[in-house]
Amino acid sequence: MDALLERLRAGLPAEALITDPDVTPSYAHDMASFCDAGTPAVVVLPRSVEEVQHVMRTATALRVPVVPQGARTGLSGAANASDGCIVLSLVKMDRILEISPVDRIAVVEPGVVNATLSRAVGELGLYYPPDPSSWEMCTIGGNIGTASGGLCCVKYGVTAEYVLGLEVVLADGRLLNTGRRTAKGVAGYDLTRLFVGSEGSLGIVVKAVLALRPRPPRQLVLAAEFPSAAAACDAVCRIMERGHTPSLLELMDRTTVRAVNAMASMGLPESTEALLLCAFDTPDPAADLAAVGELCKASGATEVVPADDVAESELLLQARRSALPALETVKSATMIDDVCVPRSRLGAMIEGTAAIAEKFGLTIGVCAHAGDGNTHPVVCFDHTDPEESRRARASFDEIMALGLELGGTITGEHGVGVLKKEWLARELGEVGLELQRGIKSAFDPLGLLNPGKLF
Ligand SMILES: Cc1cc2nc3c(=O)[nH]c(=O)nc-3n(C[C@H](O)[C@H](O)[C@H](O)COP(=O)(O)OP(=O)(O)OC[C@H]3O[C@@H](n4cnc5c(N)ncnc54)[C@H](O)[C@@H]3O)c2cc1C
Repeated sequence: MDALLERLRAGLPAEALITDPDVTPSYAHDMASFCDAGTPAVVVLPRSVEEVQHVMRTATALRVPVVPQGARTGLSGAANASDGCIVLSLVKMDRILEISPVDRIAVVEPGVVNATLSRAVGELGLYYPPDPSSWEMCTIGGNIGTASGGLCCVKYGVTAEYVLGLEVVLADGRLLNTGRRTAKGVAGYDLTRLFVGSEGSLGIVVKAVLALRPRPPRQLVLAAEFPSAAAACDAVCRIMERGHTPSLLELMDRTTVRAVNAMASMGLPESTEALLLCAFDTPDPAADLAAVGELCKASGATEVVPADDVAESELLLQARRSALPALETVKSATMIDDVCVPRSRLGAMIEGTAAIAEKFGLTIGVCAHAGDGNTHPVVCFDHTDPEESRRARASFDEIMALGLELGGTITGEHGVGVLKKEWLARELGEVGLELQRGIKSAFDPLGLLNPGKLF
């Protein structure tokens, strides 16, 4: 420990190091429940690429594991510390280095908060689409680490579609440049894409070139109430089948609606079994919403209410963004799942989840990026009751099994981390797993980067 601190201090200012044992444990984990976390030896908050390189050279020389962290809003334990590790928090590297309206790119450091970037490019008439509900807190580095999605991804796609190039500090401290800042480019393997979603296991992202789009018109939202989740899912299929391109298509079940009202007094309709939110940012959103409203009615919607204006639309979005925190208040603990299925199987997924809730005698609230088929079943339980906790874990596993059975994936956007690593092998299969392990060891032969995650 002394040798580690001495070597780190040789290349870092004193304020970049936290060694106080009362403080370092506060960097031990992200926002996932029930994921193991160790105690870091030291927390480092670098401000430059050279400082990150110094940390990685030191870690390699002394064989100390390194856990990169952004804002620690992750929901899979992917940013959790391991015992004796260096926690490398990138939050102080938070400069927007360039915004180019001609090239339609932004060049940023990893600690830039998603919403800060969105606002900065918005002032220039540009748009950075990936918008996780945690956008006011989470960082671009963390978004790249988890390949995060969000509310507008049904139209604009996820983080992977917007990362053009990266600067990465490798495990041994070398600097790697991947990708491009051009509109096109196919030179060599796509290492950029490999880093997106790699959960800090291949290198430390210190700079990112991100694609931007022209800012679309402000979106208008419609809320539709359904007598069942199946009817709401039927509406989702109709909307997509008819060729509509909503900028948002989200679902909240009754449990979620009630939880949001209880937490934030949002006045959402509590008698509904499922609430669908649909938005358009097209030149004539009212016309698009009217067409979608008819499709909702054809699927059995009992009430279809388009928002009057942008302010009312924003309130509905706020309600949706507060769904996960609201569900966390239902019982003393939650396990948040993230199963994504082909959207044509969304109804089966949600009905199957309800059957699992009944089988285990648990409350499982579901909110979903419905247009992407990405469900977040949230298992609510009393963590002081060992028997209920056991049932919660079992139901969580059955939900993933159901997702795979329906042709889906165990994680649409939250990542594998610690939470789902047993399940990754099941999804990838033996050959896939072996090749992925080979890739990991090509980048990180000593296994120092974020150990214990993914595999
Ligand atoms: C209320 C709430 C709502 C959420 N909604 C969404 C949502 O809609 N969509 C969604 O996708 N997620 C959502 N999340 C999950 C979470 O916000 C995202 O996964 C987010 O991308 C994590 O960013 P972060 O900065 O907190 O990263 P962290 O949690 O700190 O880290 C995430 C991963 O990235 C790695 N990492 C971080 N920085 C770097 C770096 N510079 N170089 C290499 N690796 C790095 C870490 O090691 C870790 O593996 C939500 C979370 C909460 C709490």
